[in-house]
Amino acid sequence: MKAREAVSLAVLLSLSGSTSSHPAAGARAQSARDGRPAFTVGTATAQRGQKALGVLNVPAGVDAGYDMPVAVIHGAHPGPVLAVVSGAHGSEYASIVAVEQLITSVTPAELSGTLVLLPIVNVPSFEQIVPHINPVDGKSMNRFYPGNPSGTQTERASHVITKAVVEPCDHLIDLHGGDLDENLRPYSYWTVTGHQQQDTVSRAMAEAFGLAYIIISTDRPKDPNASRFLENTASTRGKPSITAEAGRSGPVDPSDVSVLVRGVRNVMAQLKMVAQSAAPAARPLWIEKVVTVTAEQNGMFHPAVDRDREVTGGAKIGAVTDYLNRPIQDVVAPEAGLILFVRALPSLKKGDTIASIGVVRK
Ligand SMILES: [Zn+2]
Repeated sequence: MKAREAVSLAVLLSLSGSTSSHPAAGARAQSARDGRPAFTVGTATAQRGQKALGVLNVPAGVDAGYDMPVAVIHGAHPGPVLAVVSGAHGSEYASIVAVEQLITSVTPAELSGTLVLLPIVNVPSFEQIVPHINPVDGKSMNRFYPGNPSGTQTERASHVITKAVVEPCDHLIDLHGGDLDENLRPYSYWTVTGHQQQDTVSRAMAEAFGLAYIIISTDRPKDPNASRFLENTASTRGKPSITAEAGRSGPVDPSDVSVLVRGVRNVMAQLKMVAQSAAPAARPLWIEKVVTVTAEQNGMFHPAVDRDREVTGGAKIGAVTDYLNRPIQDVVAPEAGLILFVRALPSLKKGDTIASIGVVRK
């Protein structure tokens, strides 16, 4: 999961009156169509019309280095560079499997532009089945961008991705999902940067992706040197980008995988990278605010609702007991909305998020 942050409509509404634009966007779009004969990420160099597989090395530093798998599909025809990244949280498996499927299924012959696919950013988390963090340094791999070449492993990996993947791309899609302890319904995020031209393109990407709910993020970092999240590392560098989430709590549901694969292909069609006419997605519902409920103490969580349930303010979401089954917290919805995710497992520490509720824009 990426983040659960409050959003407001104020910035969105001010957009309509905004005249700001991003002068870099035009120049970049042009350079992306320059028909470069080869495209390299890490050890993967794909000639025009080819697919190359390799690794992106995170050099050893204050702790160990490692290799991140990477695929480059350099289309038969020129066009934009789209980076698709998953596995920042290495146990959000549906998103990882979705990118694995794209590596195999997208062919250079059908492609105008270049697809850079990074299926598992957090290899230590994937291998050791550790949710949320990189077990090597205890850091979330979606909080330390743009990274630091002399920091710990997560910071060095973030720096490598910023340089080798974000800077050469025109667009980026960061895929996530419910982690081992998260019973999550699919949704995407649209970041409002305030640059009207860029926001129009990223909004079209979010709509094309096709998930029923889109969270409007207006409070994301604006400073490219303190971008924190991967998507915002791209968007603060003038590249229209989105985040999408599907999958939950461990086992891979093929329908979650296909939602993500189809979403990426829909965005590729929308960016004119593939000819496939994307079936127009149903109009999404926009979530203008996300409220969360957190654990008051360590305990055991017993859910009373499933993901995707609409709840009224004050509705019971679940209960927390101590380790001898004595009630210690009644978990209720602070506001009416949609259960975007509810904790999937009994284990609960003080301060953990128990549920997040999306308030849909009327
Ligand atoms: Zn995640």
